[in-house]
Formats: sequence, structure tokens, C-alpha cells
Amino acid sequence: MHPNAALIGRPGGRALLATPALILDLPAFEHNLAAMAAAAQAAGLALRPHAKTHKSRAVAARQLAAGAVGLCVAKTGEAEALADTPGLNSLLVTSPVIGPSAPARLAALAARVPELLVVVDSPAGAAALSAAAQGAGRVIGAVVDIDPGIHRTGVADAAAALALARQVAGLPGLRFAGLQCYAGHAQHLEDYATRVMIAEMALGEMARAAAALRAAGLAPGLLTGGGTGTFAIEGGLGVLNELQAGSYAFMDVEYGAVALEPAGGGPFRPALFVDARVISANTADFVTLDAGFKAFATDGPKPKPLSGADFAFMGDEHGALFEAVPLGSLVTLQVPHCDPTVNLYDVIHVVEGDTLVDLWPIEARGRSY
Ligand code: PLP
Ligand code: MN
Repeated sequence: MHPNAALIGRPGGRALLATPALILDLPAFEHNLAAMAAAAQAAGLALRPHAKTHKSRAVAARQLAAGAVGLCVAKTGEAEALADTPGLNSLLVTSPVIGPSAPARLAALAARVPELLVVVDSPAGAAALSAAAQGAGRVIGAVVDIDPGIHRTGVADAAAALALARQVAGLPGLRFAGLQCYAGHAQHLEDYATRVMIAEMALGEMARAAAALRAAGLAPGLLTGGGTGTFAIEGGLGVLNELQAGSYAFMDVEYGAVALEPAGGGPFRPALFVDARVISANTADFVTLDAGFKAFATDGPKPKPLSGADFAFMGDEHGALFEAVPLGSLVTLQVPHCDPTVNLYDVIHVVEGDTLVDLWPIEARGRSY
């Protein structure tokens, strides 16, 4: 049993947590789910939240209960860990799957979810998926991935998308399900107008591909993409019919610095934190926390103490808080980048104020394979 489980429901129990502990502010989280559900509906977009952010069935089930049409996952291992989420009708793997075991594992997974969708960006990848699906007597929906311009994954242009979709449509065990285009490079652009412009450029090729497919009698059902940074933009661009946002549920320092709506700010509240503890206080300018590189993602900005004090990493296990707080104090910091931070923890500590109300397992933690 987790050492913090005994504190569930105990008034003020949060102060007694074994730290560092990943903290979810339940009211803020529930607000974020409702806000995104309402925004997607108002924009005429289906919502398929990306579960790479939270890797947790408990979070996923709440997103589905709030109206999401299904889930995205990044990897086969995440798909396996989250396939049994209550209420899950459709699961999309958003990275191309290449490798010796993945096609057969996905074909087996197709028996566990009503609809399994997998992104493809190569003839070889589509052929391997087809062979595995056919061997298992299952059908996998293949979604052709289009490069938004960053050359990470996806086919280069509309002509290549049409060619791959034609191939997919002719392969046993596969059904051509639609197109994906995720403009990752647009999401964190600080200036709203620039973000609109970059997202529009990125989705232009998808719009051309969709038109070419319709003309060829291969109408793409699914036009999926978008993230938290473009949630308010995609409806107006009119290319996507489905939004893949993930970070909105938790928010982080990175997205907190971005105007998510034209007027600035946005409807989402910081919901994900790490509670750390002061374990040494023998220096004049700062105290030492029990949270370092193993407690926070290090690719983004720094963790942000709620007090407004500065933080600095001091190695794998430690951080410096530039504030005079007593030894043993609990310190709450907003996470810098939510997805890779969540991946460092086994459980989410769900809190309401100073009360720990639940522990939610992070089943897909570490499952990047
Ligand atoms: N879709 C894909 C393919 C992604 O890689 C990501 C995140 O990187 C998302 C959706 C979710 O984006 P965000 O976390 O910005 O909402
Ligand atoms: Mn991210």
C-alpha cells in the first residue's frame, strides 16, 4: 500500500504527506474538464483528449464522462495500460508504430476496445499492421498522419497522403479511418496571432489532402489534431473535426505563460503540483527541498513555487527554494511541463484544499514502449 493511503479523508492530512508527491487540485481539474468540453462543443469539434498527459485510467474515465468521444495515446504500451478505462469506445494511437512486437500487440488490443485507431505514415508500417490485424482476425482503423512542417512524423503532402490512404484501403485487416495532423510547433507560441498563422499553415496540407481524398471517393471520416495551445483556434480554421488536447486538464508553467484565447489568459486553471518538503535549512539564502530532477521535468521552464519565491535545481534529488521557511515545511510548486513530470510518479494525490481525497494510479507511467 502507498504510504500516503492512510491519510485519505483525514482533515489536514496533506501536511503529513510523504514527499515529493504529485498533487491534483480536484476542483481546478474538474473545472478544466468542463471548460474544455464546453469549448469543443461550442466550436463544433469532438474532443479526444490525449492521455499521454496523465497516463491514468481514473483521469481518462472522467474525461469520457465529461463527453469525450474517446482517447488518444502516444504509444502501444500506453494503449495497453489504458484500454480497460471504463466508458472507452475508441482509442487512437497517435505515433506511427514500427517494431517487431507492436503490430501484434495492437491487433490483440483491437479485441479489447470497440474501436482501435492507429496512425500510419509509411507503406511498410501499414503493411505490418495489416498483416497483424488479419492474422488476429481483427480490423484496425488506420489514420494517415500528415507532417505539419516539423518533419517529426507524417507523410510530406496531400499527394503522399492520398497514395497511402489508397494503399490502406486495399489492405486486409485495415480500414481507412481518416487523417491526423498535429501542429506541435504552434502550441506554445506566445503570440496568439502568430499561433493562428502557424496552425493555419500547418493544417493547409491536411485540408488539401482531405479534398483530394473526397474527390477520389475516400472521404476521411476523422480529421484529428490540435492541442491546448490551439484549442480556441481550430474551430475557426475549419479543418479538424476532432481535438486532441491533453495538457488542458492539468495545465503547467509552460502553458500558463501562453495566451490561450485572443483576449489573453484562458479558461483553464493550474491543477497539477508537486508537494515537496524542506529537508535542510542551514544556508543563509535558501532552504533545500527533497525534489530535484527526479521530481520535475527539466525540459521546460523551472517549477513555480506557489509563494512566488524562486526555485533552482540542485541535482537529482534536491532543489533550492529562495525563501526562509522552517525545516519540515511543505512547499507546493506548479509543475513546469505536465506530461514528462507525470511520468515520474506512480500515483496522483487528489486533494481538495488541505485534504487528501484519493490516490489515482498512473497505470501507463513508464510505458513508452
Ligand atoms: N496530439 C499529439 C499528437 C501530441 O503529441 C500532443 C502533445 O504533445 C497532443 C495532441 C496534446 O497537446 P497538448 O498537451 O498541447 O494539449
Ligand atoms: Mn507536453
